[in-house]
Amino acid sequence: MSTPDPPASPPQVPSPSPTGTLPGERLVPVGEVRAAVLASRRALPPRLVPIQDALGCVLARRVVAGEDVPPFANSGVDGYALHSGDTARPPAALAVDGTVLAGSTHDRRVEPGHAVRIMTGAPLPPGCDAVCMVERTRSAPDGAGVVIETSLRPGENVRHAGEDVRSGAEVFPAGTPVSPGVIGVLAGLGLLEVEVHPRPVVGVLSTGDELVEGPAALSPGKIRDANRYAVLALVAESGCVPVDLGIVGDDEDRVAAALEDGASRCDALVTSGGVSVGDRDVVRAVLGELSGGTMRWVQVAVRPGKPFAFGEIGPGRTPVFGLPGNPVSAMVSFELFARPALRLLAGHPLADRPFVRAVADEGFLRRADGKLHLVRARARGGKDGLVHVRSAGGQGSHQLHAMASANALVLLPDGPGAAAGASVDAMLLDDRAAGLEVPAEAFAWAP
Ligand code: AMP
Ligand code: MG
Repeated sequence: MSTPDPPASPPQVPSPSPTGTLPGERLVPVGEVRAAVLASRRALPPRLVPIQDALGCVLARRVVAGEDVPPFANSGVDGYALHSGDTARPPAALAVDGTVLAGSTHDRRVEPGHAVRIMTGAPLPPGCDAVCMVERTRSAPDGAGVVIETSLRPGENVRHAGEDVRSGAEVFPAGTPVSPGVIGVLAGLGLLEVEVHPRPVVGVLSTGDELVEGPAALSPGKIRDANRYAVLALVAESGCVPVDLGIVGDDEDRVAAALEDGASRCDALVTSGGVSVGDRDVVRAVLGELSGGTMRWVQVAVRPGKPFAFGEIGPGRTPVFGLPGNPVSAMVSFELFARPALRLLAGHPLADRPFVRAVADEGFLRRADGKLHLVRARARGGKDGLVHVRSAGGQGSHQLHAMASANALVLLPDGPGAAAGASVDAMLLDDRAAGLEVPAEAFAWAP
């Protein structure tokens, strides 16, 4: 026996509130989501790498100098090594006992009244305590000696052993980002390998039945995958190693297989699409299953970038960042949550982009909706020495072109926004802020 179906009634569609959320949904503040995502991020286990591969990585152990740099006292100028006491009343005529070049030594002791011609970097001959630069000397009238025209203090123009780095001293603490200068110091100590946290390997996946790639004509309803390439680039720019995991349609089994495959060979995964509240938001569903209860799916109190999912999957508890599908939302969500987490995996003490106070060169008006607004903006350095910002154009979460011309995100807390001339908070997305480059005048000085 079957009971007749009840008469069909129109589906109950809950009406969104002015904040764009459905009744009962809580908008979670950005700070709370970041705290949850960053809480358990530990730097990847250290690895010994050649120093030339370590640029941008972070030292996993402190470095202690095994020797002095410079290793011996040497001359800082081309000139004459001498006894400073001989120059108390210049001019002083001295006999010259030969020449010492960089890379060679002068082993005989130099007596008072004598000097040795010396080149920059050559070891200070025994007995000498100062060097007179060649510009302050002239040849003695007899042609054999040298006349010193100035008086010298003990130690003048001498670079002492250990003056740069002292043997036994800590040169860099653990947690130091490896810069070109750090690499130079390590090489100068003979350390050609160094223990660093490796660059996280990050798999990037696009999801959506509508996505295609390549130049072929689009069939109806299809769009080209922009996110995967943008996110792969963001991953690389964050100092991580991007791995392209391709496009997967809105199919739970395929998304699950792609995530499991990615987790087996990556330190973290970033997906885009499929995390909002639509019927086919498969990433959210799959992450819920694979993450064994660690998945957090939230509506973040931010615009753009409201839907976001995060979970850990597989035996290695590989973190997965589920970015929204709208391209601008995906990039902003990456900046807010994925980038700092990846930077922590890489051992970076500073996870975020540079944050500045800036002058709003135009009104950044908005309406109150319970969310933090991140406005794509162009930042430039003003003649007043301050950073100035203007909107970069279209602020729709699908308007990737305006995002591409932005070099900053202006943070507008909930409320009416900022009037022209007000000061606002901004995250600088790169170092291409026009007007912050070195002005020509800075190098215009001439002697
Ligand atoms: P979703 O988050 O999957 O609901 O997608 C939201 C919007 O973003 C839709 O208009 C999608 O077509 C678009 N979208 C999703 N993934 C991509 C992508 N990889 N590239 C460009 N647009 C996308
Ligand atoms: Mg989708």
